[in-house]
Amino acid sequence: MQIHKNYNLSKLNTFGISVNAKFFVEIHNETDVKELFKMEEFSARGGSAFGEKKLFLGGGSNVLFTKDFDGLVILNKLKGIEILNEDLESVTIRCMGGEIWHDLVTFSVKRGLWGIENLALIPGTVGAAPMQNIGAYGAELQNVLQNVEAFDLTTGEKRIFKREECKLGYRDSIFKNELKDKYFITAVILTLSKLENKNITYKILEEYLKKNEIEIKGPKDISDAVAAIRKNKLPDPAIIPNAGSFFKNVFIGKEELRKLQKNFPQIPYFEEDGMVKVPAGWLIEHCGPRDGTSWRGYRLGNVGVHEKQALVLVNYGGATGEEISLFADKIISDVKEKFGLKLVPEVNLI
Ligand SMILES: Cc1cc2nc3c(=O)[nH]c(=O)nc-3n(C[C@H](O)[C@H](O)[C@H](O)COP(=O)(O)OP(=O)(O)OC[C@H]3O[C@@H](n4cnc5c(N)ncnc54)[C@H](O)[C@@H]3O)c2cc1C
Repeated sequence: MQIHKNYNLSKLNTFGISVNAKFFVEIHNETDVKELFKMEEFSARGGSAFGEKKLFLGGGSNVLFTKDFDGLVILNKLKGIEILNEDLESVTIRCMGGEIWHDLVTFSVKRGLWGIENLALIPGTVGAAPMQNIGAYGAELQNVLQNVEAFDLTTGEKRIFKREECKLGYRDSIFKNELKDKYFITAVILTLSKLENKNITYKILEEYLKKNEIEIKGPKDISDAVAAIRKNKLPDPAIIPNAGSFFKNVFIGKEELRKLQKNFPQIPYFEEDGMVKVPAGWLIEHCGPRDGTSWRGYRLGNVGVHEKQALVLVNYGGATGEEISLFADKIISDVKEKFGLKLVPEVNLI
């Protein structure tokens, strides 16, 4: 395990922000994790620099670095997928946190297992997936998650969280709130179904399948369709650096919706669990830096809002995290002024 000093992170975040970590290490197996904790003990006795604050990094596809990281960045490279249990109806899988999420989707759909096919092509690692309960095309991680294995950073002990303990919600979990920066997620355990369990009611997916006359014979047909839609809809970070949806959709009550509809009768919304979800992309598209303009497709220096996807902020090259963050603040205040709604970033600002 090699500890690097002053390590540049530009290739390790999909926004392509050039910042340095004071210290950097890659973790390849659980022995590395334990060794790191021994170093921690050592440092607690004044032996080294590793009593530093820590940041765990997977694919860097949901972070915005606003400055150099004054601590230790730990890149999760824990690999391995194993089948723990199998019966006539389901399969339980343990997947190490450093695996690429889409590789786990491929592993599952190849075996005809249902449950994560709608989450195809979400960038990043398995270990980061519980952080914001990843979701797309009508599915969420919480539909299949059983347990999360994690190291307690204060004691070095391993803890197994049950799904209920993870407090998963819309792009949210206990790991983003009460337990922020307190645990390193090393593995997740999922139960997938062997029985057909297709989830194709999400409008865009339903329309795509119909238009292309795709008959669903297995989960792979769905993951292929989702992958095709995503490739067409979302900018590839390898071409235009971005971190996917920068903001979360907004949840409001029915009364608040009624008030908004008086001024904005065309406002789109979806009813979910007694609340109303308003697409943040629509709000961003329907206000702009000047009267009559839209943020969608707007560019300011090195930063902009993607022209096809108002939720996605992009780095046209050389932007700093601070520039992107200030740009995001302008959008937040415009949306607040016009609609009275508060946009909250989905991306983790660091
Ligand atoms: C083009 C694009 C499309 C996207 N589409 C979607 C989508 O449809 N749905 C969706 O939900 N998300 C989407 N995202 C966001 C992103 O892919 C997910 O949030 C993903 O789970 C992030 O994984 P990562 O490994 O890149 O996490 P990172 O960006 O490396 O980390 C994200 C956060 O989790 C923490 N973290 C990471 N790993 C661990 C760990 N093992 N233990 C503890 N903390 C950890 C980090 O410290 C950081 O705070 C998209 C991103 C992009 C770029």
